[in-house]
Amino acid sequence: MDLSFTPEEERYRTRVREFLKDNLPQGWGAPGYELPKGRALVELLRDWQRRLLKHGFVAMSWPKEYGGQGASAVQMAIFNEECARVRAPGPLNSAAISQVGPTIMQHGTDAQKRRFLPAMINADEIWCQGFSEPNAGSDLASLRTRAELAGDEFIVNGQKIWTSYAQYADWCYMLVRTDTAAPKHRGISYLMVDMKSPGITVKPLRQMHGGQDFNEVFFDNVRVPRHNLIGTLNDGWRVSTTTLANERGTNALSQYVRYEQIFNDLVRLARASRRHGRGALQDAVVRQELARHYVDLQGFKYNCLRVFSAITNGGSPGGEGSILKLLWSELNQRMQETAMALEAAASQLTAESAGAVEAGRWQVSFLRSRAHTIEAGTSEIQRNIIAQRVLGLPRTN
Ligand SMILES: Cc1cc2nc3c(=O)[nH]c(=O)nc-3n(C[C@H](O)[C@H](O)[C@H](O)COP(=O)(O)OP(=O)(O)OC[C@H]3O[C@@H](n4cnc5c(N)ncnc54)[C@H](O)[C@@H]3O)c2cc1C
Repeated sequence: MDLSFTPEEERYRTRVREFLKDNLPQGWGAPGYELPKGRALVELLRDWQRRLLKHGFVAMSWPKEYGGQGASAVQMAIFNEECARVRAPGPLNSAAISQVGPTIMQHGTDAQKRRFLPAMINADEIWCQGFSEPNAGSDLASLRTRAELAGDEFIVNGQKIWTSYAQYADWCYMLVRTDTAAPKHRGISYLMVDMKSPGITVKPLRQMHGGQDFNEVFFDNVRVPRHNLIGTLNDGWRVSTTTLANERGTNALSQYVRYEQIFNDLVRLARASRRHGRGALQDAVVRQELARHYVDLQGFKYNCLRVFSAITNGGSPGGEGSILKLLWSELNQRMQETAMALEAAASQLTAESAGAVEAGRWQVSFLRSRAHTIEAGTSEIQRNIIAQRVLGLPRTN
């Protein structure tokens, strides 16, 4: 594992730093910076994505012929790491750029590539992902939203849930059942649906931290042109597994930076807190908890480096990607719990309350962290993947 960077890579890092210094939204990342909400946040992130694009920092792993940068894994890792250091936001369409974009590039027609890719990287059109349903999350292949072919159109009926950004999205990439008689993985197709189509109802879901990031989406006889099918009919399951091989691992270095920052913030909170009438850092239990987080953070760091090293040597993260997901999501929850314990009675005060510690920001991140072990594959599912693909243990069912 050689972790040194070439002079050219160091110059690239300097270019990224200068871009971030000149372009980050005013005040971003500073304590007390108030994030705009709702549509105002969408417009801020749209502007941010366009600035990133202008300087060559959007769709970095996409080939140049599709408007990407053809960047190396090391350049992407440097960019992600520098963004994490200043807590910069991702582009508005980041999920689409890493998921449906590569899917269109690999399985789409030339007309689909021309129609959808430029508007995706320029943030002219926002995308949401319609995969999960009320009875199909971890077991996604059980999905029941139907799409029946009638001439040149599909007629879509059913419901999606937990659809992030659906209330702002122009397009939805979704999995639908097109053959009810086939085995469940073989009767699924991959469609792109215009969110302004008649028959679509979006109902925002309120989360426990007060935000409304995701939605229920209902489809009632929604007409979708057949040319919005990606790949062939009933091949959607295979099509949906497309991702750019090096995309996942290049995030590894930035993730370490992000959780190291939370750890440092936690130590600062402990220094400023009191327990049993004296400074919290004098308390053996607090010190042991912080030491445990630090040890876990170091374990996470070396796992990040292992994945990054595999990527730069031409490999792919495979099941080890699940180890990272499990480590960061559970470590972050434990750190957030320590923050609540340090705030003691004040942990009940929200941002609006007088006397809230650090403007109530730990309360929001504590509540938001509960979703980390659910979204993008639950902890139990990650453990199953690690058991089967990393440890080679047999399946139980
Ligand atoms: C913040 C957030 C944003 C999201 N955004 C989107 C989005 O934009 N688009 C989208 O399509 N989806 C989205 N999701 C949904 C997410 O993908 C699902 O919540 C996730 O896949 C889990 O599915 P589920 O909620 O149906 O839980 P279930 O699959 O019903 O699981 C319930 C419990 O059973 C356990 N379990 C299930 N199967 C097994 C098994 N085989 N072995 C052991 N334990 C098991 C799970 O670990 C969990 O504890 C989002 C979720 C969150 C939290």
